[in-house]
Amino acid sequence: MSEERISILKGAKRILVKIGSGVLTGDDGLDLDIIEHLVDEISEYSKKGFHFVIVSSGAIASGVHRMGFKESLKSLPQKQAAAAVGQGRLMRVYSNAFGRHGLVTAQVLLTMSDLTDRQRFLNIRNTLSTLTEWGVVPIINENDTVSVDEIKFGDNDNLAAMTANITEANLLINLTNTEGLYDRDPRGPEKSRLISLVTEITDEIEAAASSEADTVGMGGMKSKVIAARKVTAFGIPYIIAHGKKTGILNDILSGRETGTLFLPMAQHMKSKKYWIAFTLRSRGKICIDKGAKDAIINQGRSLLPSGIVSVEGDFRVGDPVTCVDVNGVSIAKGLVNYSSSDIDRIKGLKTSRIEQVLGDKQNVMPDLIRHPEHIEITGFRLPPE
Ligand code: GLU
Repeated sequence: MSEERISILKGAKRILVKIGSGVLTGDDGLDLDIIEHLVDEISEYSKKGFHFVIVSSGAIASGVHRMGFKESLKSLPQKQAAAAVGQGRLMRVYSNAFGRHGLVTAQVLLTMSDLTDRQRFLNIRNTLSTLTEWGVVPIINENDTVSVDEIKFGDNDNLAAMTANITEANLLINLTNTEGLYDRDPRGPEKSRLISLVTEITDEIEAAASSEADTVGMGGMKSKVIAARKVTAFGIPYIIAHGKKTGILNDILSGRETGTLFLPMAQHMKSKKYWIAFTLRSRGKICIDKGAKDAIINQGRSLLPSGIVSVEGDFRVGDPVTCVDVNGVSIAKGLVNYSSSDIDRIKGLKTSRIEQVLGDKQNVMPDLIRHPEHIEITGFRLPPE
């Protein structure tokens, strides 16, 4: 047992467990034994005062099995229809399994646009906290039947990372069908080694995550590591572990060496900053020079027109926009005070010239992109959009 793991996991009482399709399904559709086993473990800890929120995949896989399809579905309407068939079945299985322990479950289906709207985001947060107060176990999935590309989380690894912010969880456990993150693709010819602790998500760590999705789930290891970047930036420890292993939750929560633990970043973002950085989708990019980059990262200063090299995208006042350096690396993200066309006109100029160029408009928002709440200085490396 590792002291470090124990000390990190000791305070974790609000736990988000993401369960992937590869864990929940077997050759015969939903794997009832595995689900019951995980539910037994969750129920046991719930009775000890732990609170759980589950992000569960498995709707599409369950629907595919129920319909007797042998091939994996290709088109979006087919997947959405399969999710409509499977989601109810998935919930029934959870509800029965938790019911044996006297626990009640609640279904929460979300799309990305539910979280990018601040009001809806806050409503979801209130609903989840009420469910937790009632001792109900919320089971979240993407609302697959209505999701289209623009409003999709993409995969449940990302959904779980976004949910970490709403539930204020203090641990995220991502259960999948491998042991964790290996230093190279474990299916490849060369010998691979399980990485048990990640203190910082470096380029090597990202490279280690194979981009190949597993056969049942959507994301593969790459999306789990992108999710790890977000979750740890929010100050939450994150574990990837094998969900089919007997007693896995007990192993994790008692600090046993299992899976890959990503340590939370010491300096982490507050909820609203996290929401801007990771939940809102950028509407454009502002390329900034070295001086502006230094002012933002090292001096915590605002973005001024003099440091702007170019603008990309078509965005309006208040839209989320990413600042990139001249090599295209994302360094900050925030809500802009000027539209893309106005920024294009004042780029490279001294602040004093804004009024001259933009005329009256300058009076509307005299601060340009200066207010620190508008351009949030993340200081964290943002994952790719
Ligand atoms: N929402 C999908 C489902 O329930 C799963 C997405 C994923 O596996 O990441 O089938």
